[in-house]
Amino acid sequence: MNTVVDTALIQALDREHFLHPFTDFKDLATRGARVITKAENIYVWDSEGHKILDAMSGLWCVNVGYGREELASAAYRQMMLLSYYNSFFQTTNVPAVQLAAKLAALAPEVGGRSFRHVFYSSSGSESNDSNVRMVRRYWDLLGQPQRKVIISRNNAYHGSTMAGASLGGMSGMHAQGDLPIPNITHIEQPYFYELGQPGESSAEFGLRAARWLEEKIIETGPDKVAAFIAEPVQGAGGVIIAPDSYWPEIQRIVDKYGILLISDEVICAFGRLGYWFAYEKFGYRPDLVTFAKGVTSGYIPLGGVMVGDRVATVLIEQGGEFNHGYTYSGHPVACAVALANLELMEKENLPGRVRDDIGPYLARRFTELGEHPLVGLAETCGFMAGLVLVRNKATQEAFKPELGVGMLCRSHCFRLGLIMRAVGDRMIIAPPLVMTHDQIDEMIALIRRCLDATL
Ligand code: PLP
Repeated sequence: MNTVVDTALIQALDREHFLHPFTDFKDLATRGARVITKAENIYVWDSEGHKILDAMSGLWCVNVGYGREELASAAYRQMMLLSYYNSFFQTTNVPAVQLAAKLAALAPEVGGRSFRHVFYSSSGSESNDSNVRMVRRYWDLLGQPQRKVIISRNNAYHGSTMAGASLGGMSGMHAQGDLPIPNITHIEQPYFYELGQPGESSAEFGLRAARWLEEKIIETGPDKVAAFIAEPVQGAGGVIIAPDSYWPEIQRIVDKYGILLISDEVICAFGRLGYWFAYEKFGYRPDLVTFAKGVTSGYIPLGGVMVGDRVATVLIEQGGEFNHGYTYSGHPVACAVALANLELMEKENLPGRVRDDIGPYLARRFTELGEHPLVGLAETCGFMAGLVLVRNKATQEAFKPELGVGMLCRSHCFRLGLIMRAVGDRMIIAPPLVMTHDQIDEMIALIRRCLDATL
């Protein structure tokens, strides 16, 4: 395929016509966007021919790596057979049904709770909107309509729609658009590095952080709380990994007050943490699980909610018509691609590879970066990782935010051929799950060069 493009022309058209998401439009217009033209395995290329190692899997999605023929031909075959049909008016389609059954088979039963139903959307944001609709409907049907409040966490990311951004705990997003919408409230995140107290162990902190949920439930009024939503590991917030003591205590609290637990696994499912679904790793028992991204490895938009029996039974048996859904719910092409993606992941045992092979190898190599003079902390979970840039390693003194050291490091990465993301001064990665040991070594060497350049 001819990938030669006129960079200046594309940049000019980009400037004139394309408003990019999460972007300072004027700033981008002066810099000009880097034009990405092709990708293969774990690398992408720009229009100037630079090869870049993509340690972010696009945006946490390309789990099977780029350019997989199996996914492209699944899309082609399905488009020629049935390119689209809706699932609104008592019709269904084969890939949507097969995928729902496949996802139900992959989702492990925990504590007698199983997932036999899927509600489809096209993205993580939409899926979380669907969660809000389902949670409210569930409590209405149970005769407790006053249970409306959903508790989330500061610095969480649950999407960019009005409900998604409200569930999220990003202050920058709340500031634009009068968010959160009513009946959504937040507690502090379980970030030991920043919020742990002197002398407190991480296990003690994990319990204290979980109990912020109980305090919030009591403050709100237990009969008003509908659900708690959380990411297994906060991704966009900077790969924030809760201490081991956190999840069992969260489970105790949601059980005690009977509130629903939503596990937003848009990033963490499909092998990212070494399991098909991340709640299995941490051993908690969600009622609803949000998925998107990795379900198709980002080759085509698809998202959804795994609806556990507790909620599904009420919606099905008592609900009547559920007045919610999307044109693309159960899109046959997206579902066919997802089936091909999951088949590939099974064949290559990608969750197992992360758990037993490349995950532990990444953990060993990435934590070595903790010795670098700029790094205050380097930690991994499955196949995602984060490090903190600090001004003074001995005292862990942070850089002044206005210095933008994370962004500086990110720009060195881009220049040196590596995509790494900056969240404040946390530098984060979530590489494709097909990485070899040699490629992990190559990535670590590149990260070192970027850190040296930032010094
Ligand atoms: N939930 C989580 C945990 C996410 O990380 C994201 C996106 O990064 C979303 C929801 C929103 O997904 P989307 O961008 O597909 O709407």
